[in-house]
Amino acid sequence: TEIPELTLNDGNRIPQLGYGVFKVPPEETEHAVAQALEIGYRHIDTATIYQNEAAVGKAIAASGIPRDELFITTKLWNDRHHGDEPRIAFQESLERLGLDYVDLYLIHWPVEETGDFLNAWQHLLRFKDEGLSRSVGVSNFLVRHLERVVAETDVVPAVNQIQIHPRYQQREVSDWCIKHGIAVEAWGPLGQGKYDLSELAPIRIAAERHEVSPAQVVLRWHLQQGRIVFPKSVQPQRLRENLDVFGFTLTDAELADIDALDPGDGSGRTGSHPDDFR
Ligand code: NAD
Repeated sequence: TEIPELTLNDGNRIPQLGYGVFKVPPEETEHAVAQALEIGYRHIDTATIYQNEAAVGKAIAASGIPRDELFITTKLWNDRHHGDEPRIAFQESLERLGLDYVDLYLIHWPVEETGDFLNAWQHLLRFKDEGLSRSVGVSNFLVRHLERVVAETDVVPAVNQIQIHPRYQQREVSDWCIKHGIAVEAWGPLGQGKYDLSELAPIRIAAERHEVSPAQVVLRWHLQQGRIVFPKSVQPQRLRENLDVFGFTLTDAELADIDALDPGDGSGRTGSHPDDFR
């Protein structure tokens, strides 16, 4: 499978589809990532809080795939925004991963009351200058957090990784990102398995029409709107299915019908909200 790449606002390229390892237990992660790499995934999304960076690193080392063919993302956890902590935390991540650099390092949550995302962001900009993280970005940032970052540092993050799936689409922040050249990464792209995609008529109908699965329809919906996705599964068959989304195209009407699935009142949210971490 040829996975399309997008060009970020700093000129670096990112595979638009990857593999996320949230909630993959550390002892299963090396095998899961090895399997994903074998199937053809080249972009891996992990985080310090997932406690599986070392296992990701082992799978990368064992794969023999040239480093420049891989795209590896990890994230700074919420309790390490202050003082020199971002640098220490970042170095620890590189060591656990066994890498000289990552492709993308993100501030995991804004934690605006107890954290200091501006201090963390200044550190990330230095990691980028030093070549230790090729690109830098944020995650779970709302418009007010993004506005503050840009106003204070004049540097626009390369990506914002936010929760987006059919029942929770975050249009306000996503539109702001598009307008300012920030690539949108959709976490929980399949609704985290917390609702049945096939019960939503536009998804079910499109799946039948294109002879694909509901998950494939939803991934296609993200990709056609320019979002980056890294669905999680540990089952080989689903890993293959989630990568096999380049042989069909949804119509504008099908996209619009899926767009209309967000009830608009926030009730479709499946994971944490930025205000949950203060
Ligand atoms: P997801 O939407 O990828 O859902 C994963 C679940 O969907 C699986 O556990 C399984 O139940 C189901 N699934 C997967 N493939 C399927 C298929 N082909 N058919 C049917 N069901 C299928 O949710 P996620 O793992 O939470 O999100 C993806 C990645 O996003 C994570 O692994 C992680 O890397 C990232 N993430 C980031 C944040 C953040 O705060 N930045 C938060 C959550 C997740």
